[in-house]
Amino acid sequence: MDPHMYDNDLTPDSVESLEEETWISEFCSVSGREIFVEVPEEFIEDDFNLTGLSHFVTYYREALELILDLEPEDPMQLANMSIVENSAENLYGLIHARYLTSRQGIHAMAHKYDYGVFGTCPRLLCNSMKLLPTGRHDLPGVENLRLFCPCCLDIYHPQSSRHAGIDGAFFGTSFVGLFLKTFPSIEQECIELRKKQFSLTIYGFKISEFSNAGPRMKWLRRVPQNEYEIEELERDQNDSTNEDEDDDEDEDEFEDDSLSEDEDEANDDDDDEEEDKEEQKMEEDTKPARQLRQKQGAK
Ligand SMILES: [Zn+2]
Repeated sequence: MDPHMYDNDLTPDSVESLEEETWISEFCSVSGREIFVEVPEEFIEDDFNLTGLSHFVTYYREALELILDLEPEDPMQLANMSIVENSAENLYGLIHARYLTSRQGIHAMAHKYDYGVFGTCPRLLCNSMKLLPTGRHDLPGVENLRLFCPCCLDIYHPQSSRHAGIDGAFFGTSFVGLFLKTFPSIEQECIELRKKQFSLTIYGFKISEFSNAGPRMKWLRRVPQNEYEIEELERDQNDSTNEDEDDDEDEDEFEDDSLSEDEDEANDDDDDEEEDKEEQKMEEDTKPARQLRQKQGAK
């Protein structure tokens, strides 16, 4: 589906904007910003929703007044006007990210998703799955917008240059997860598509995974297929978290060692034990790699 085919159609947002032109509707009507939803003024007027945002925006109060179309308390000087306008856009983006984690925001985005406003996955085997906008950071100014495909579970650069310049923090890291949990049918749709993987063949014969030209990175897209595999994955994860805890203990012991020389002598026997422990730990460190090799061998 062409992601831009609905750009010129009347979406509910643009119908609203015909009724009353506000700063928010004007902001969202700019070309390239059709991926933003209009945040209701009631949401912005609730101070709870804005907690902490004043740290990220200069001229915070003036920017907020501009967004809400309020008369400014202090008349702005013309020189500051462009800075305030810029601040208002940043502030709106950050409020927008918070709005998207609300029930109302998720449903507003669902409408845009249905229209395919965010584009489709470039991966052929995802069968033009619709993408969802996401950021990899919640702090502004770190990274621009990315698009997430629920089928291949990968993220992509936006194809439109107008979308590429948008800050990823304006959509945030939590929206996609909440969206997919709200609409589980999307994940259901993806389960079958996810099984489809392209594999190289020569005269109809599959290339061995152990060959230099083999699909050795295939494991990147692997997801557990049955209960046994899920259990195995959880066991591997538990093993690795236990190892992390061991690391912390080692650090504590290291600090103890540096207390005093007298104690060092007394601790000589303990040191031997530590060496044994370290050897054990090194063995454990190589365990996941060994398990992976064994798994590949078993196939
Ligand atoms: Zn995909």
